[in-house]
Amino acid sequence: MLDKIAEARALHARTLVIDTHADTPQRFRDERWNFTRADLRGEHLSLVTAKAGGLDAEFFAAWVEPTEWRGHYAERTRSLIHSVHEQVECSPNEMALCTSADEIDMAYRDGKFAALIGIEGGHSIEARIDLLEEFYANGVRYMTLTWSNNNEWADSSGDTEVHGGLTAFGRTVVRRMNDLGMMVDVSHVSNKTFWDVMKTSTAPVIASHSSCRALTAAPRNLTDQMMRAIADAGGAVMINFFPAFIDEAWRAAWNALRDERSARHREVEAPYRKSGEPVPFHVSDAVDREFTEKVGRAPFASLIDHFDHALQVIGPDHVGIGTDFDGIPTPPAKIDSAADLPLVTAALLERGYSEADLTKVLGANLQRVFRAVEAAAVS
Ligand SMILES: [Zn+2]
Repeated sequence: MLDKIAEARALHARTLVIDTHADTPQRFRDERWNFTRADLRGEHLSLVTAKAGGLDAEFFAAWVEPTEWRGHYAERTRSLIHSVHEQVECSPNEMALCTSADEIDMAYRDGKFAALIGIEGGHSIEARIDLLEEFYANGVRYMTLTWSNNNEWADSSGDTEVHGGLTAFGRTVVRRMNDLGMMVDVSHVSNKTFWDVMKTSTAPVIASHSSCRALTAAPRNLTDQMMRAIADAGGAVMINFFPAFIDEAWRAAWNALRDERSARHREVEAPYRKSGEPVPFHVSDAVDREFTEKVGRAPFASLIDHFDHALQVIGPDHVGIGTDFDGIPTPPAKIDSAADLPLVTAALLERGYSEADLTKVLGANLQRVFRAVEAAAVS
């Protein structure tokens, strides 16, 4: 295994490595936290840990908590998008804001960390195409059609079905995303929404952070049939690192604590709710971390099993990395931050996958899908 780790580190050092999902912008916005600063407090992702793990590009997710920001979705989305721009402006020698596959390649050649922006949750556009267009103009290159909540035009896997999939307006959103050259992201959507999207999108789609339902029954994971449909259309599935999505026993233990956890959330968040201030990210995150400690770490092998399963079902051209760093309270054992990403590659080398296959998984697959989406755009 040791020589596999050395081999994986060397591969990361000479290969473009892209992660398609991290929720770090909340930290940028609410904690005035600087990505390139080295004095960390245990976050999953920073320039230091990215460099240590050979991670070269990140899609930073603008995620708007739907209850807290009701009535202000677009405003909060703008602010999160702006926070990514600010990070790059603060560190122009270390980071580059990228809005195309070519720009990712350029940043990589220049030795700069490529920062990209995705929106997580279609509620951000407030059912307005002009907002979708504004966000695209401000650099957003994918949108997860829903988060765990339904919106006006699409059902989520985390909510009660109301639309029966995508509405007519939902199909308009998907087509407009195709025309703009914004990647359609099916992570979080309901089963019916998923199949409606596959019928509607004229460009390949991604699942920016979803794991395999055949192994872990979370409704937010993808079935083998769904993964095959994404692959057949030229898209890619990026495996999520959250223990509740990759380990059935961990998921059961986590779900068993749900009521207790919700009560604790209400308790620590009450003072903010009372004053009408937004709950800082670290406050709610601390509760989730407290409860993950009760459950313990999920086995590292469970994460590798998900990569392995996806690779077996849809092959090396359609799998990628979607960590969900900073959006999950804990990754599985051995993975404390982006610095540990080579361990995943090493484990897959150990299971017999080739460096050529893993180069695709690490970044080339996302680049291929991104270019196909750009090529299908109507300008
Ligand atoms: Zn998510």
